Amino acid sequence: MTPLTAQEKQKILSYLEARLEPKVYDAWCRSLQIEASGENAVRIPTANPFHRDWLEKLLRKPLEDAFLDLFGHEVEVVFQVGDVPALPIAAPPPPPAPPAPPGASPPLLRPEYTFATFVEGPSNRMAYAAAVAVSENLAGLYNPLFIHGGVGLGKTHLLQALCHAVLARNPSAQVRYLSCEDFVNEYISSIQRNRTDAFRARYRNSDVLVIDDIHFLSHKEGSQEELFHTFNALHLAGRQMVFSSDQPAEDIPQLKQHLLSRFKSGFDAPLMPPTYEMRLAILSRKAAARGWDLPEEVLGYIASQVQTNIRELEGALTRILGFASLSKRKPDLDLAKEVLQESRPARSASVTIAEVQQLVAKYYGKKVSDLQAKRWTKSTSLARQVCIYLCHRFTGSSLQELGDHFGGRNHSTILYSIRKIEAAREADRVLRSDLERLEQQIM
Ligand code: ADP
Ligand code: MG
Repeated sequence: MTPLTAQEKQKILSYLEARLEPKVYDAWCRSLQIEASGENAVRIPTANPFHRDWLEKLLRKPLEDAFLDLFGHEVEVVFQVGDVPALPIAAPPPPPAPPAPPGASPPLLRPEYTFATFVEGPSNRMAYAAAVAVSENLAGLYNPLFIHGGVGLGKTHLLQALCHAVLARNPSAQVRYLSCEDFVNEYISSIQRNRTDAFRARYRNSDVLVIDDIHFLSHKEGSQEELFHTFNALHLAGRQMVFSSDQPAEDIPQLKQHLLSRFKSGFDAPLMPPTYEMRLAILSRKAAARGWDLPEEVLGYIASQVQTNIRELEGALTRILGFASLSKRKPDLDLAKEVLQESRPARSASVTIAEVQQLVAKYYGKKVSDLQAKRWTKSTSLARQVCIYLCHRFTGSSLQELGDHFGGRNHSTILYSIRKIEAAREADRVLRSDLERLEQQIM
């Protein structure tokens, strides 16, 4: 392509000016450089990766249209970090995202995960306060908000409560909540379908982007890169981001340094295991929410027996209440003891990973080699996740060891499987009875 004349450049700029918000045009286009580059391509030099991503989002389509409309041919527009002075940082924010249809809330939010149902205490005070503050003042002091803590300590609850609170204040806010796994899957499928532009636009339009279980990015370079660009675009546009992780960002294996430094650039809040008093308070609230008034000594007993996390605590309560209803007995201390002692997992490592794999493979009609395969297929995913969950409970193996026995997966993938089954166990009756049958065989 021959170099562009000054006149041609002016035409392009006028074309852009007619189509962009005046503020946006002034901030981003007045000093825009457009260089012919190769055959049917133009290069837009940009000051840094922030600007590259931002300009690309803003200008790719208008520029392509300009060449087609003005000169009758298509061009490829390449945005490249190059030698240009930085554009003013205090650029006006991009045009607001189109409002959501009334009443639309992100489909993934569970209605009961609100601040009102979240029991606050010393182990989660900082994370709770930060989440409330963020919901009241987006993109203020805590951006990004990074909440980390072990399984079942309330990360998802807190993140969703934040989303609910933002939407309660402003129903048309673009709040995007999703699991990191969904982010990764959608990204991959957008590549496969050649729809990365749409994918990017969707996330970069958010007022609040909330990604749960971000440790899932471990080892996933492409997705890390994509999130990095999303992060920069949103940050530049003054939007709020919230992440959760089962460990501090710096401990996530194989996380690129530049993404790590973005995660560390905001506010970091840990969730710790609940204290005895909090466990008591949570139990009594959850029992009340289900219409039960349990004696103090029963609550105290459960709270003293289940110390690991809140999901286990709820699980214990569910089992006790379930057993009381089924057997038409009062949920007293004797009953609670019966139920909890019965369901306590064997502590001894008397069973091996290989034995559990054999048992689970047989139960689900799969081959042991399917469970161990490097390639994880959908048809075996339930059996594999159940197997990992049971191995974790009964063999005393570390996550790393488990990873080695299940296709060489890293520990966060293993943890993900465990968590998935833990959550499903509460909600899915069929799975619960499958697990109980398998556990009987193991014990
Ligand atoms: P995580 O995402 O950290 O694994 P979740 O947010 O899924 O944990 O919490 C597990 C369960 O415990 C959920 O049912 C949640 O409602 C409950 N929970 C966690 N923390 C609290 C809390 N502080 N108060 C009340 N319920 C809680
Ligand atoms: Mg969670």
